[in-house]
Amino acid sequence: MLSDVDPEIAALIQAESARQSSKLRMIASENDVSAAVLEATGSVLTNKYSEGYPGKRYYEGQQVVDQVEQLAVDRARALFGVDHANVQPLSGAPANLAVYLAFLSPGDTVMGMSLPMGGHLTHGWNVSATGKWFNAVQYDVRKDTGVVDLDEVRSLALAERPRVIFCGGTAIPRTIDFPAFASIAAEVDAVLVADIAHIAGLVAGGAHPSPVGHAPVITTTTHKTLRGPRGAMILTDAEHARAIDRAVFPGLQGGPHNHTTAAIAVALHEAMQPAFRSYAHAIVANAQALAAALLERGFDLVSGGTDNHLILIDLTSKGIGGKPAARALDQAGIELNYNAVPYDTRKPFDPSGIRLGTPAITTRGLRPEQMPQVAEWIDRAIAAADNGPALDRIAAEVRELLAAL
Ligand SMILES: *Cc1c(COP(=O)(O)O)cnc(C)c1O
Repeated sequence: MLSDVDPEIAALIQAESARQSSKLRMIASENDVSAAVLEATGSVLTNKYSEGYPGKRYYEGQQVVDQVEQLAVDRARALFGVDHANVQPLSGAPANLAVYLAFLSPGDTVMGMSLPMGGHLTHGWNVSATGKWFNAVQYDVRKDTGVVDLDEVRSLALAERPRVIFCGGTAIPRTIDFPAFASIAAEVDAVLVADIAHIAGLVAGGAHPSPVGHAPVITTTTHKTLRGPRGAMILTDAEHARAIDRAVFPGLQGGPHNHTTAAIAVALHEAMQPAFRSYAHAIVANAQALAAALLERGFDLVSGGTDNHLILIDLTSKGIGGKPAARALDQAGIELNYNAVPYDTRKPFDPSGIRLGTPAITTRGLRPEQMPQVAEWIDRAIAAADNGPALDRIAAEVRELLAAL
């Protein structure tokens, strides 16, 4: 037993479990996995080395692991309707690095959304290897709408001729127009990569349009809305399959994490059930109900609302920075992250906004009827950011709601 071998770590895991269950977990990239996913993650598959792919390994003893990985691959192909799936990337950032290795040489031009506008570090932002080693050109959102302007993306692509274009990001509250990105990529002969890390579960559940048929290469994490273990996948058409497989192994990685592969297979199995479709739609219904309640309370939402699982709030009009607001909310039992908003005038480590999402609270069982109450807590906590006892009172109300679910 862990508690006998290492009581310190055992106690910390217990404490984290209690912390998670006593809070409204609204970090948009997080979720709450099933007991089945946790069990697969904590299995003896962690003992096994298996460099290579099913049927072509560099180590003996793959009788079982080959079947595990093949099941994960087959389920990913069936769920998303793609020709090929690589389930070995260790996480989302390594999955995107494999894209660079597969289709670009150092110095080549890559195009992606800039980080402060909602893109990801690995889409060419300057502090990332992808921005240091490649010629990254970055598109923005419009200042007046908070949404990507595809005419601007097209002009930039025509001027810069990128070899790879990334669409998708980490703080995009609106539907991604995959067909429009595909036509821009076709015009400049670039490989379009859809990074659906945040929305993979919505795509799988039919609550966001699919990039399949538009983007020949799709990268995703498995631990956000898809509700699996920490890991990633790259989904491709037949043409791009071999380049991606070679980039992941032997290009970037050694042995795959087989315990994670098994847990990805479990999560994909769960995502194929009818209940997951309801879950994906409930995530969006909760986010939209929360956005409406926040708007009613005078919050300034980037792009005016949400089409998916996340909401980005610009707190400038409330006279508080994102960081003190996030800290107060955490004390009030509502966990989220401070975040830059488009055209932020404050610094990245002390930005103007907060980002919140509904994947984990939807898993927990919250419904749209409860979102006005959540908005009221958020509003009250931000107004009482310096008032510790008031924040503690909200935290007690949050715990009461969670205990009654
Ligand atoms: C989360 C995320 C990633 C990175 O995933 P990690 O598992 O944290 O490495 C990549 N791209 C996007 C769009 C993401 O949201």
